[in-house]
Amino acid sequence: MKAEILTVGSELLSPGRIDRNAELLIEKLGSIGLPVVFRATVGDDRELLVETAKQAFGRSDLVIVTGGLGPTSDDVTRESFAEAMGLELVLDESVLAAIRRRFSKRGYTMPDVNRRQAMVPLGAEVLTNPVGTAPGLWIKGPRHTEVILLPGPPAEMVSIFEKHVQPRLSSPGEVFRTQRLLVAGLPESAVEEKIGALYRDVDNPHTGLLASGGQVEIRLTARGGDTIQAEAKLERLVSPIRRALGQHLFSESGETLEQVVGRLLTAAGKTLSIAESCTGGLITHRLTEVAGSSRYLERGFVTYSNESKVALLGVPGELIESEGAVSESVVRAMVRGARERAGTDLALAVTGIAGPSGGRAEKPVGLVFIATGDARGEDVSRFQFPGGRARVKQWTAQTALNLLRLRLLLE
Ligand code: ATP
Ligand code: MG
Repeated sequence: MKAEILTVGSELLSPGRIDRNAELLIEKLGSIGLPVVFRATVGDDRELLVETAKQAFGRSDLVIVTGGLGPTSDDVTRESFAEAMGLELVLDESVLAAIRRRFSKRGYTMPDVNRRQAMVPLGAEVLTNPVGTAPGLWIKGPRHTEVILLPGPPAEMVSIFEKHVQPRLSSPGEVFRTQRLLVAGLPESAVEEKIGALYRDVDNPHTGLLASGGQVEIRLTARGGDTIQAEAKLERLVSPIRRALGQHLFSESGETLEQVVGRLLTAAGKTLSIAESCTGGLITHRLTEVAGSSRYLERGFVTYSNESKVALLGVPGELIESEGAVSESVVRAMVRGARERAGTDLALAVTGIAGPSGGRAEKPVGLVFIATGDARGEDVSRFQFPGGRARVKQWTAQTALNLLRLRLLLE
């Protein structure tokens, strides 16, 4: 069965908008073994929508559409799909009553415009919405295509999908289990090189790699007659992958790098301080995203200027003068200064050139030094990260947290 996703909304075509619905649906459909073969976003334009709907029939067996089911005049999904299928829209009294009830529960009378949300293509099945007004609609389309219309707000879309759609799409007698493995410190190509031969010719579990923000996610989905079978299938591939990746594998349960670091610090009963230059506090921010981080995180120094490195961390001014702020000796002095001044067991320090300006031939943009330190001394690594300012900062933070994790594993 081939599935396609159409997300509707002109706002989704403006810069900076993330199509969460498509992402969520790809994940949810993947977890029940339904591959998505086509995905598109259409603006709030009735003619375009009718045309897109007609193309979808026959191209895919299952078409999931999100957005544009609201009460306002720019919401035209319902009308467009009814037109494309040649179906009349009829008022569904029970949907209308449910919408009225929702309003009156909050002490409002239903505005007249909301009647539109009770209009249902003739023969469509209504999928009740546990968290909003607009219900979903399941329609048998032309050429054996199943068409499912869902509201735009992601929380509503997901709750209708999980309640009404997912259980019916999963084949009877088949169970799916998904596992995400997270890898740090290796580029995608290196992960592929280490584990490609293990999964390439295996179709159950199905395996996919996804690289982003300095980590690689390996997603495995196994199917079986029951949970035990599916889990056994999964484990049969996960265990050789685990062996091949060794310490590069940092999470098997969805834990983030900062959570893993936090857990290791807690287990070791150690405290941490951080001195950040080019990341401007990003590492400290990530660590403090974890609840309970006050147990191990003592402080973060954002020492962006040379003066602050001298004043707050005690880095010798002459050292910055002679070696430059982005250098092995300065990052070493930063990590030592942070640890001593904060009085922590461990410290982490980063300094680098995030760009776009400030690079030179011997110190190009993306050059970063990262140091970890404890009572036994400091370790410094030098990196050359690719990409623009945001990417260099992200990679620096990710790599620094990973180096800290590796150091804690040696404790
Ligand atoms: P409403 O009744 O809220 O108007 P609707 O079904 O008409 O619902 P839209 O108007 O298309 O849906 O979208 C409503 C809101 O839902 C949008 O403002 C946006 O915040 C969110 N939304 C819609 N589609 C998406 C999407 N694909 N990804 C993420 N958010 C979305
Ligand atoms: Mg709307």
